[in-house]
Amino acid sequence: MSVKNGRQFLSIPGPTTVPDEVLSAMHRPAIDIRKGELVNVTARLKDDLRMITKSKGMPFIYIANGHGAWEAALSNVLCRNDKILVLESGSFAGGWGQTGGTIGLDVEVLPGSWRKSVDPEAVEERLKSDKSGDIKAVLVVQVDTASSVVNDIPAIRRAIDNAGHGALLMVDTIASLGTMDYRMDEWGVDVTVAACQKGLMMSPGISFTVANEKAMAFHQKANLRTAYWDWTSRQGSEHYQTYAGTPPVHMLFGLQKAFELIRDEGLDNIFNRHRLLAGATRAAVAKWSEKDEFAFNIIDPDDRADSVTTVLVRDEQKLGAIHEYCAEKCGVVIGVGIASLSGKALRIAHMGHINAPTLLGTLGVIEMSLNALSIPHGKGGVQAAIDYLAASVPR
Ligand SMILES: *Cc1c(COP(=O)(O)O)cnc(C)c1O
Repeated sequence: MSVKNGRQFLSIPGPTTVPDEVLSAMHRPAIDIRKGELVNVTARLKDDLRMITKSKGMPFIYIANGHGAWEAALSNVLCRNDKILVLESGSFAGGWGQTGGTIGLDVEVLPGSWRKSVDPEAVEERLKSDKSGDIKAVLVVQVDTASSVVNDIPAIRRAIDNAGHGALLMVDTIASLGTMDYRMDEWGVDVTVAACQKGLMMSPGISFTVANEKAMAFHQKANLRTAYWDWTSRQGSEHYQTYAGTPPVHMLFGLQKAFELIRDEGLDNIFNRHRLLAGATRAAVAKWSEKDEFAFNIIDPDDRADSVTTVLVRDEQKLGAIHEYCAEKCGVVIGVGIASLSGKALRIAHMGHINAPTLLGTLGVIEMSLNALSIPHGKGGVQAAIDYLAASVPR
């Protein structure tokens, strides 16, 4: 017995659902890669990247996933044995730091909690004690997709400034860009890392770095630069140099369409939609958590991201049964816990191409699984989500 039909619905925090318009935009013949339309597509995409990061900085487009952009960001601004300070609040800043370790950086992790945002005071204190300026860059994620925390980037900038420290501030926005506000220039971020397959609604394979003037100055002295990632060679006058080779033609068409959708809806509307659908998710999870089988991973409600919600589940077998039921009986793929939360959590994604029916459908399917599997939970999670949305979205 099953009630699934048609498309599998992805409620995982990346890759996310790709809108039909974006899929269709890729279904067309290839065009010249040296001149004409594609050159304009690239120029527009760079403008789109400045628009969405709210930056006048220099964007670079990579044929790579987020891990590639991590390496691109570090190798373009740093030297062998430079120290980087990684701000822990989940899995991903640490992963980025490990990438740095493999290319010859000296990685220091500022320990944090998987259940809280980065503490700016701890950052300030550590940087103040770095009298000789050994730390060259501070790495942080805006949203950690494993813990579902959101970090306060302006507060971290203030911490660096209060310490009078000259390190670069490098921010991974892979799980937040296009889901919540981000102001690279206003917030004083030196390097932004992003990727296309989460809030930007494109199929995976393209990622980005954006660099400000301070980062470009570091770049001049960096000795970890390599041919493929190198910002300087990518600024060459020939179009192929932008991509260090053949451009990913069809992916650029798709990405261009995704940005068209983003511009049409408007960033503020997009952020509001994410905030509301995240609020609905949290209303449901709060209900379910009235029985102690379930709990929010992120303790302080102000620290919870608008793009993904990580829910701790006490019993690993029940957790597995929920995932299996949602996928096999209903065709909905719920995110699993990863890294230290593997086997301990589920993750409900609410980023990118999501709306009230898809989100309420996902919550409904999860609640259905709890009923069908007789897993103790506070009743009325979906009703709470509906009540929240009805009260928040007036006629
Ligand atoms: C998904 C994600 C990554 C990794 O991206 P890949 O495309 O899988 O390499 C890095 N950082 C954050 C915050 C993410 O959410």
